[in-house]
Amino acid sequence: MTTYTDPADDVVRAHQALAAAGQGDMVWGHVSVRDPEGRGVWMKASGWGFEEIDASRVVLVSPDGEVLSGTGKRHIEFPIHTGIMAARPDVTSVVHTHAPAANAFAALGVPLRPLSHDGVLFADPDVPRFTLTGGLIKDRELGRALALSLGNAAGALMPHHGLVTAGRDVAHAVLYAVLLERACRDQLAALAAGPLTTWSDPAEAAAKRAECWPPSQIEAGWRYLLRQAFPEGSPLREPAPGAAPEPTREPMSEPTRGPS
Ligand SMILES: [Zn+2]
Repeated sequence: MTTYTDPADDVVRAHQALAAAGQGDMVWGHVSVRDPEGRGVWMKASGWGFEEIDASRVVLVSPDGEVLSGTGKRHIEFPIHTGIMAARPDVTSVVHTHAPAANAFAALGVPLRPLSHDGVLFADPDVPRFTLTGGLIKDRELGRALALSLGNAAGALMPHHGLVTAGRDVAHAVLYAVLLERACRDQLAALAAGPLTTWSDPAEAAAKRAECWPPSQIEAGWRYLLRQAFPEGSPLREPAPGAAPEPTREPMSEPTRGPS
């Protein structure tokens, strides 16, 4: 499992990266990082936009919603994070945003198709949807139900609300949110122009998941977003030491093999 030198720094990185990727919704939406000591989740304090987050606006929230560290107020929807973390021991970071294309796409009620590199991560065969409510995830039961809908997937749509993604580290969780939103946006554009006639079949989608999205490419995308989000010289412009993906056995780090 990834070890974090400072979870609060990764919370700052994640929100700034999502702001750079255009997923801010004024002061709503949030990212969490699992507390390495098992006390709960580190996430942004409520009342601030993604691009306004620095270390002073990060709180440690217990599974019961108690703020254990930090001075800000916690978000009502912290059970999104504690619920998924409880259900998914493989996950150390969760993203919830009110991404506009994801919401518009979810309203169509049609399957997500792998039209692009982005879509292959989620359309397997379709992206999960949490349909119990489009309202706030404000208690433990709803958090548990959302985690059940997500299952082992990288992300899920929350119709009438937004999206949720989960990753083994903050780089994966953030990239999944960016890529899911882009997959939805691509399909909206295609559907606006006419009926879909072609997309990756299951075999191509599976092959592309492996060749387009190895940890090295998630890392590359994460580094790109950090360069967009932080000025030169900022210590947060680089991933946290120790947060790099574990090496894989396949030779997948050549940039020429990455998604174009
Ligand atoms: Zn929300």
